[in-house]
Amino acid sequence: MPEHHTPLIATIAAGLLLAYGFGLLAHRLRIQPLAGYVLAGVVVSPSTPGFHADSALAGELAEIGVILLMFGVGLHFSLKDLMSVARIVVPGAIVQIVVATLIGAGLGHLLGWSWTAGLVFGLALSVASTVVMVRAFQERHMLETERGRVAVGWLVVEDLVMILTLVLLPTAATMATGDDVPASRVVFQLLVTLLKVGIFVTVMLVVGRRVIPWLMHYTAHTGSRELFRLAVYAIAIGVAFGAARLFDVSFALGAFFAGVVMGESTLSQQATEEALPLRDAFAVLFFVSVGMLLNPEVFVDAPLALAATVVIIVAGKAAISWAIVRAFRLGNPAALAVAAGRAQIGEFSFILIGLGLQLELVPSLARDLVLGGAIISIVLNPLLFALLVKRMQLEATPFASGEEVVAEPTPAQQPRHDVLIGYGRVGSLVGAALRRSGAQLVVIEANEDGIEKARLDGAEVFTGNAADPEVLAQANLPEARRLFVTIPEPFEAGQVVEQARKINPLLEILARAHSDAAVEHLDRLGANLVVLGEREIAERMLEHADASKPT
Ligand code: AMP
Repeated sequence: MPEHHTPLIATIAAGLLLAYGFGLLAHRLRIQPLAGYVLAGVVVSPSTPGFHADSALAGELAEIGVILLMFGVGLHFSLKDLMSVARIVVPGAIVQIVVATLIGAGLGHLLGWSWTAGLVFGLALSVASTVVMVRAFQERHMLETERGRVAVGWLVVEDLVMILTLVLLPTAATMATGDDVPASRVVFQLLVTLLKVGIFVTVMLVVGRRVIPWLMHYTAHTGSRELFRLAVYAIAIGVAFGAARLFDVSFALGAFFAGVVMGESTLSQQATEEALPLRDAFAVLFFVSVGMLLNPEVFVDAPLALAATVVIIVAGKAAISWAIVRAFRLGNPAALAVAAGRAQIGEFSFILIGLGLQLELVPSLARDLVLGGAIISIVLNPLLFALLVKRMQLEATPFASGEEVVAEPTPAQQPRHDVLIGYGRVGSLVGAALRRSGAQLVVIEANEDGIEKARLDGAEVFTGNAADPEVLAQANLPEARRLFVTIPEPFEAGQVVEQARKINPLLEILARAHSDAAVEHLDRLGANLVVLGEREIAERMLEHADASKPT
């Protein structure tokens, strides 16, 4: 069979094709496509008949997804952002890991394992998947909000703890067999690892911070888009790989810091973001690779233990993280979002439990429980998010200052109000003018700056992704007079227009576009007026040229 000669291509082809097929199917059945991606992995896994993709290769491809994803997250993060949440995330992540580990160890004990086995198992349950969390936040436009910063800071701390754990695990294994290990050796190992991480971060901040932006600018000046894209991929993947090879830092953390130093200026942030179209495809392969790890026997052999594992991951971790975030006096919406983000396990857990098995610290049932628990919790995660985030949106009331205020839901109730989607460069101008003319204004905006501005201008503001039906519902479109869709992205704008037209056939819909194709798309979905930004710019230029023409 040809796939034996080209296993990499076979794995990519089967992974993408099946993920696409099952993703579409899931969408039709109104389930998250993510469940379809995992199912695609199950179909090509060694545990099911038929074609078997190479799970080692799939795992590496997924790792590229993690690298590009974390690089993209880093682009939108500054060191200042990280420092601003450190006081919460450092103790928060550590306490959460300790408590979840102990609960997991308790379950291990009930199953008759040694405490060492229980602790390794508990640790594997205590960490969350970067990919799952980041994607959930990205989808809801929550990454750049305060809760997004807390969640990402939390990931960074967790990543550091994991690096230390992986280094110390072999020593722990020696101790578990009864051999004496001098405490000085453990301390030494810890120090060396911390030193390596420290050197990596310093190198990135001192050297990388100068060299990488300089390289990007230099490349941009060549005028070659191809070279620019190449630079982005080369630096993201190169730094991640180097970080892992030279400094024992995880790929994810390496890529994250590469993104942080590259994203110092907003312009390069935007340019770089645009150069990352491959990211989503690889992130999908992550879910396929998770599905491929499934061992179906665990569902039959140890259903109760598996159920308990899932309860610890989903309910236990969510509850612990929620309580910790609340203890730091952050609002309930933030606590719920972080809790939903933590209620799953993934790539770290696989690595940990794999190493535990290799060192003969844990029984193979522990691995099967971790894998089964990961698959179930990852598939459940979007549902949990929908549930918690819905509560969260109900609680994020209009005119709330910060995230603290809790009140009854108040969908926009003024008769004949205007609804404005997006409060950025375009939306804020429209909104301010509408307010000046005395209009009742409801704004849906995802980004914190925009939210703040809209509130100051006196609008009623709902936060989140306007393309999400639940978010859009809060704008009370049946009663609205006009809808202004000022977001630049045609796909999401189209989803807003399409839903709005269905909800209210008489609504006046005005939309923004940046290409002829987008104009046509929005027209077809029911917009009354679609304004092509570029054409307006051209006309304004010509107007000026006319006016300044020598007579
Ligand atoms: P600008 O391009 O400067 O007019 O900014 C567009 C604004 O729309 C930004 O403030 C974004 O945060 C916001 N935005 C983009 N997509 C969405 C969305 N799907 N839902 C809500 N707000 C959005």
